Amino acid sequence: MSIGYSLGASLGAACAGARRPVAFVGDAAFREGPQVLSTLVQYKLPAVICVMNNGIMGIQQFMGHPQYYDNAQCQPDYYNTLMRWDYRALAQAFGARHARAKTLSELDEALRQAAELTASPILIDVVLDERDIPSVIRHTAGRAAPGAVQANSEAPLLRRIVP
Ligand SMILES: [Mg+2]
Repeated sequence: MSIGYSLGASLGAACAGARRPVAFVGDAAFREGPQVLSTLVQYKLPAVICVMNNGIMGIQQFMGHPQYYDNAQCQPDYYNTLMRWDYRALAQAFGARHARAKTLSELDEALRQAAELTASPILIDVVLDERDIPSVIRHTAGRAAPGAVQANSEAPLLRRIVP
């Protein structure tokens, strides 16, 4: 899998129609294909797309400079920060339903609303703190960072392509 995979996969699963897809996608990954929402609306496919809106490419930040997550004085790398999109406006532009959740109870309510939609997708904006990162990332990506990231960085690749 790669970044943005879950959006396209949701469309495929929704077309297959066996079950209703529910995707939890990072805000960076969502930018790989937000037009999927338009296709879901066009074909009345009731996928639930939850955008984990924390305004950062968190995994990349963690792999490059994990100290950001443990030290409140650290700033994120500028290339990992994301502008927080107006997901309500984006959903409206595509004709999709929208909900916003800043708490677990609001997420419960948004998912309850989503369950009632049978012929329409919904985009749920799950608002998180910029330093929120799944614990599984801390345990898996942490073992690889930062040495593995540096070893596989762009510069050595470019040296191989352009001698
Ligand atoms: Mg993010």
